[in-house]
Amino acid sequence: MGMTLRQLVYEVGGGVKNGRQLKAVQSGGPSGGCLPVEMMHLPIDYESLAEAGAIMGSGGLVVMDETTCMVDLARYFVTFTQNESCGKCVPCRLGTQQMRMILDDICEGRGTEESITQLERLGESVRMGSLCGLGQTAPNPVLTTIKYFRDEYLAHVREKRCPAGVCENLFVATCSNRCPSDVDIPAYLSLIAEGRAEEALRSHMDRNPLPSVCARVCPHPCEMRCRRETMDRPVAIRAVKRFMVDAVDQVEVSVEPRSEEERRRVAVIGAGPAGLTAAFYLRRLGHEVTIYEAMPEAGGMLRYGIPAYRLPREELERDIARITDVGVNIVYDTAIGKQLSMSRLRKQYDAVFLGSGAWADATMGVPGEKGSGVASGIEFLKLVEIGQMERLAGDVVIVGGGNTAMDAARAALRLGASSVTVVYRRTREEMPVEPDEVTDALEEGVKFEFLVAPVKILRDRRKALKGIRLQRMRLGEFDSGGRRRPVPIEDGFVEISATHVIRAIGQRPILPRGGPPVSNRGRVIVDQFTLATETDGVFSGGDAVLGPATAIEAIAHGRRAAEAIERYLCPERAAQFPWNAPRVLDTAFDPGAPPSNAPRREAPKLEPAKRRSNFAEVELTLSPAEARLEAGRCLRCDFGKLLVSRDEV
Ligand code: FAD
Repeated sequence: MGMTLRQLVYEVGGGVKNGRQLKAVQSGGPSGGCLPVEMMHLPIDYESLAEAGAIMGSGGLVVMDETTCMVDLARYFVTFTQNESCGKCVPCRLGTQQMRMILDDICEGRGTEESITQLERLGESVRMGSLCGLGQTAPNPVLTTIKYFRDEYLAHVREKRCPAGVCENLFVATCSNRCPSDVDIPAYLSLIAEGRAEEALRSHMDRNPLPSVCARVCPHPCEMRCRRETMDRPVAIRAVKRFMVDAVDQVEVSVEPRSEEERRRVAVIGAGPAGLTAAFYLRRLGHEVTIYEAMPEAGGMLRYGIPAYRLPREELERDIARITDVGVNIVYDTAIGKQLSMSRLRKQYDAVFLGSGAWADATMGVPGEKGSGVASGIEFLKLVEIGQMERLAGDVVIVGGGNTAMDAARAALRLGASSVTVVYRRTREEMPVEPDEVTDALEEGVKFEFLVAPVKILRDRRKALKGIRLQRMRLGEFDSGGRRRPVPIEDGFVEISATHVIRAIGQRPILPRGGPPVSNRGRVIVDQFTLATETDGVFSGGDAVLGPATAIEAIAHGRRAAEAIERYLCPERAAQFPWNAPRVLDTAFDPGAPPSNAPRREAPKLEPAKRRSNFAEVELTLSPAEARLEAGRCLRCDFGKLLVSRDEV
């Protein structure tokens, strides 16, 4: 009693299994309430739990991660209390039954927003009208999940989507469901297994028009939900995709013929993955689309951030060419807010999509930071890309632990730095980057100093940079994201000599003047389902909305915005998107046959000695035979699930 929920979950319980994210806890047994991760600071006592809508009850605590669906969970507990109901009073006997039926509807794709309102009203009535404690508390799991996880309910009823991948009627397979862009992964895997790479790529283009990019840099969340993991190891989905994009060059995509009166003009700001994707799908719907891009070339951070050893430029070009080939027009060297005002753009076009990314970097805020020798990670990588940074001599210190830090470190090494040291305030386990990237960097010779934070940039009498002073840290209490907070160790300092310090500790959006309203974190405020901003006709997505995120999240936003823009521009047309058509998959599968026992195949890599001094691509591709074998490891969780079109449900 008295300790916080966080202490109980992490310090006593040891945290969440398999490195997953804590999502919620449910306290007090089947009629207890569910509390979200943001409330883990609550002390465990009667009053605090009751105030938050939960109860102490039996004292039990169920801990849930991102694989739990809160709607399904509410259904589970209501089923239990309904079975336990003695039936003496009507509100409990019939109320719990009705609640269960409504929850069934929502989980099975028949729910509407009215269903949520009904649940709330019914829950209150059952609570107020029941005679004993069972009925009075039975609605708790329903009411608290609606209160704290309303968005999850809305995803079920508005989009017929179960974000956690639990409600079977609402997804094809857990891998696809976990993909932010909902790519039909079992479809392209099974087509590859049959040697039908072109059809596989066409299916991919229906959900994601940047396959070459994602085959190289996607953090592949799909693999984390691959059910094959319960047998041995997940299917190497990204490696198979890489084979697919290397095997096929051109692919036909349809563009809807649209009459002059029905065609609209849409402007897209930024040719990063979000803007390119929005433009591609709007063009496929037959609209006239123009992208305005501030830089001389397209790709956004894919080009000006991610170095060529991870994403060769000809591969990026291949994806961009497929988008311009359908008729998307790109106007380069034109910054909206400078060369062309936001208001003029809005007047000239029927709708605008803002995908301007997150190009401002966070500063360290330490003495000596301003002055020569200290650079921003994204600025450094941009200079490398445009050929203005061909050599880098001396000792380089990189501050940070994410993608930008890792890319800046490995690029500095390739430019000839004598030593490169990454300094990070937490440990390797907490780094927000693919673990493989750290291994690759270590193999190439990058050094790491963990549990240190910069406190001062050291300069000589002539103000020339000579090093960095760091404070030693230790891991303290867990934060709301489940990572332990770094706390300074008193009097624990270390100094590292350096000729260059590159900071890569965070990015935020720079938005065009006259743009839509932003949050206090500088991110565009949008409706999360339609991505509509508070300015009529202006939609936004990608890093401009999320802050620094990933390519696949930007792509997902691009497609979602294209669909919302179509609904906004042509409300009279029943929105039917060709890429959401009912699934037709004619690949062979015998559900009675034992699954393939082939071991997982990893994509081969160039040896460290051959790659550390040049920008040649590090990750290589599987052979055709290996790719087919790997694709054949898919357990086909989608089998028999011929989902109807999302537009129809
Ligand atoms: P951006 O890609 O930033 O594109 C925005 C575009 O808008 C830019 O081209 C910009 O020039 C243009 N623009 C901005 N303002 C204006 C204006 N006023 N007028 C006209 N044009 C404008 N993600 C992964 O998935 N995997 C990785 O391995 C990975 N590594 C990364 C490494 C680095 C170094 C960086 C910086 C990012 C990395 N990311 C990675 C993140 C990923 O690149 C971004 O999340 C993604 O590019 C965001 O897409 P976006 O379209 O929202 O924005």
